Amino acid sequence: MKCPYCGADNTRVIESRPGEDGTTIRRRRECIHEACGRRFTTYERVEQRPLMVVKKDQKREEFSRDKLYRGIMKACEKRPIPAETLEAVCDEIERKLRLEYEREVPSSVIGERVMDALRELDGVAYVRFASVYREFRDVETLLKEVLALIGDRARAVERPAQADKPSGDGTSFARG
Ligand SMILES: [Zn+2]
Repeated sequence: MKCPYCGADNTRVIESRPGEDGTTIRRRRECIHEACGRRFTTYERVEQRPLMVVKKDQKREEFSRDKLYRGIMKACEKRPIPAETLEAVCDEIERKLRLEYEREVPSSVIGERVMDALRELDGVAYVRFASVYREFRDVETLLKEVLALIGDRARAVERPAQADKPSGDGTSFARG
């Protein structure tokens, strides 16, 4: 690493420590040129290669976490889901996509991943997203999807929380 002050080729690392978010390493360096000896800082980070999304018409666009987040957020509008949960869902989907698809990922895969995550998270958000994503042409298809979801829920022990009722009033006894 060249010294930014005198241009000498030799500098040495005097300290290395991870950056705040753990994705960078901060290094303090010192110029070993006698007349200079100045110190400076460099940062090392993983090179993030762009992940391209292949759309239905074969057009490519760069993967955008923002876009993913907005899609999920829209589906979860007015649902009792904390923003941190949505962030975490987003992070997990992105992390896995980057792991499994190095360069290109079909947009359909992203849609399926979001649906899988929402199915677990919130029934209403799931149906909202699925109805837009799968472009339900008729009520029957939508109904089939909803019925399948209700079947899943019935098998689960917990019932989804009601958004429009105050929670924590101590009357949440399961009936029937
Ligand atoms: Zn120097």
